[in-house]
Amino acid sequence: MTAEVHVLCAGYAHERVASTVVAILDEGRAIVVDPGMVSDRSTILDPLAALGVDPADVGDVVFSHHHPDHTLNAALFERARFHDHWAIYERDTWTDRQADGFQVSGSVRLMATPGHSAQDVTTLVETSDGLVACTHLWWSEQGPVQDPRAEDQVALELSRSRLLELGPSLIVPDHGAPFGADAVPG
Ligand SMILES: [Zn+2]
Ligand SMILES: [Zn+2]
Repeated sequence: MTAEVHVLCAGYAHERVASTVVAILDEGRAIVVDPGMVSDRSTILDPLAALGVDPADVGDVVFSHHHPDHTLNAALFERARFHDHWAIYERDTWTDRQADGFQVSGSVRLMATPGHSAQDVTTLVETSDGLVACTHLWWSEQGPVQDPRAEDQVALELSRSRLLELGPSLIVPDHGAPFGADAVPG
C-alpha cells in the first residue's frame, strides 16, 4: 500500500511568508505537515475539506522544525499527535524519541535533516509515483542554494545529499510548489 500526498497550499517567502502545508492520506489515516503561517486558515481548511477530511480526524501533525512559520496553526488539529525531531506530543503527554527513521504510518517516515536548524526533519512518503519528500532543505525550486537563515550550511548540504541519495521522485519544499529531483536548485 502507498500513501497520497496533497499540497493544501504552496508556501512562499517574499514580503510575506507562508508555509507549504501538506496533507498525507495513508490507509485511512490523515497526516498534516507544517500547519504554519498562511494568509487565512481557510487556505488550509478548505482544501482539506475538499479531501473529505475533518480537522478533528487528523491523526498526526509533523513539524519540519520549530520556526513559527511552520507551526502557527497547529491548534487546528485538536486530536492529533504532534511530531518533531525529538518527541511526540499528544494532549499532556510528551514522549521522547528520535525522529530519524520513525515510522508515522505504514508509508510515512521521518528523516533527520539538520542544517536550516538543528531540529529539521524531512517527511518521506512512499506513493504510487515514487518517494515524495516534504522538506525545508530547499525553500522552493528557486533555491536559495545558500540558505541565508541556515544555522549550519555544511550540515544542510550534507542533509541534501543524503536525501537525494534516496532518489525522491518529488520534493515538496516548505516555501514553494513541488518540483522533481532533476530540478533541484544548485
Ligand atoms: Zn525555518
Ligand atoms: Zn520556513
